[in-house]
Amino acid sequence: MIKKLTQLTFLVMLSAAAFAQTTPPATAPTGQPQQRRRNQPRHYAITIVNNTKVNVDTAQINADFKAVYPGFAAADGYRTKREVTMRIIDTAKKFTLSAVAGEIVVNGRWIKDKKNFAGFQNSLQEALHKNWTSVDTTRKDGYQLVFINKNSAFNPAIRKDLVETFFTVFPVLVSTFNDKTTHEVVFVTDTAYGGVAEASGNRILFSTKYMNAHPTDIDIVTHEGFHLVQGYGYSAGPVWLTEGIADFIRYKYGVDNIGSKWTMPAVTYCQNKRKEI
Ligand SMILES: [Zn+2]
Repeated sequence: MIKKLTQLTFLVMLSAAAFAQTTPPATAPTGQPQQRRRNQPRHYAITIVNNTKVNVDTAQINADFKAVYPGFAAADGYRTKREVTMRIIDTAKKFTLSAVAGEIVVNGRWIKDKKNFAGFQNSLQEALHKNWTSVDTTRKDGYQLVFINKNSAFNPAIRKDLVETFFTVFPVLVSTFNDKTTHEVVFVTDTAYGGVAEASGNRILFSTKYMNAHPTDIDIVTHEGFHLVQGYGYSAGPVWLTEGIADFIRYKYGVDNIGSKWTMPAVTYCQNKRKEI
């Protein structure tokens, strides 16, 4: 029961975040795609390809998709496909449905059953979450951390260290610098991600390849966590300044910079040089 409640809270949280970003309608009254304003996220869209004789209520499928997919995609990663094709196929096999980012496949014989159609939203959610190795929620002192692991080979000891570092450092940064920062954060480990780590909205994405190779570099949480506290949104200032501040915060509040042999870059002559007018 506790686990069920946890998952529900998690989904509500992600769905709310996703919908907050998709306010304008997907199409203009003429049917032409409406132009996206600069810096606005792309919309989520589903295209249903039905080559079977089964009639499905496409409005209901659209509603179910909108209730489930944006939350999944927002948690899954920055590059998770927003345009999804749903193919309804005719197969006598026991197959029901499968769903990965960008592609849903449904057995027409299965979905034409009223009971299955009524439960489509839950079935879709379940199928999408199968793409993740695990989802865990930790709550402490008014803060919540959802940890989505997409790599079964991710070292669990590092995962534990990342969570501990979050609960040690993040509340201090929030109360010291910006108490309007969200208290609900999502960590995602991604095998497809080529960088080290990055933060956006209420989510921090980690490369498992990097973390497995650098298990002591846990103060990435301090640096990336501070990007959430900075919360400059789309109108961020110069990158060097945003990053410089986050590095300084890591230097000052990090829990194990010595263990990870991390230091601030040395001051150079150029940094102190004043421009002559
Ligand atoms: Zn950074």
